[in-house]
Amino acid sequence: MRRGLVLVVSAPSGAGKTTLCQKLLAADPEISFSVSYTTRKPRPREKNGVDYFFVDQDTFEKMIEEGAFLEWAKVYDHYYGTAKAQVEETISQGRDILLDIDVQGAFQVREKLGRDAVLVFILPPSLTELERRLRSRGTEDEETIKRRLSFARQEIARAKEFDYLVCNQELARAFDEFWSILKAERQRSFRRQDLLKRFS
Ligand code: 5GP
Repeated sequence: MRRGLVLVVSAPSGAGKTTLCQKLLAADPEISFSVSYTTRKPRPREKNGVDYFFVDQDTFEKMIEEGAFLEWAKVYDHYYGTAKAQVEETISQGRDILLDIDVQGAFQVREKLGRDAVLVFILPPSLTELERRLRSRGTEDEETIKRRLSFARQEIARAKEFDYLVCNQELARAFDEFWSILKAERQRSFRRQDLLKRFS
């Protein structure tokens, strides 16, 4: 059995990360989604245990104390964290897991997991296009949009530290590049020692 990998995906809000992640999960049966914990309130249509585990601040803080998180961060006034158990169990069974998390969290995962983690940053074609996409959603007020854009600039400044970059100009092409990264990473020789065992 090969060793599973942790595919960490970060992007500024509006880059199309959620769409790319959903397409990957639908297309590839060997990767599953890591459901994060958060203290933010569910949005309409979000389901507890599917999109997130929605918890209160006390519960979240207790989990931090117990060391239950692989990583956690405060993003836009709320706490978000990845449970260690789910990730460890998945990769030890030779399956891959997708983490849709922010930049701070991505670097914590790399620090903890080393080569088991593969960091992908999704870029919008430009900041102007990102602003256009955020506005066309029509879900955020002006102040939130301004805040997200300024946060996007800070996140993009750290994109060069990721292992891979994908520019989401055109969805089909971006998805192809994204999936190719996963397929190639699976075949890294240190993950495929199982193939060599047959010859020793
Ligand atoms: P949203 O509230 O829009 O679902 O997510 C806001 C941001 O939090 C997104 O950038 C998302 O990737 C990030 N996020 C979601 N779950 C986690 C997590 O478990 N850890 C970290 N560090 N960030 C997360």
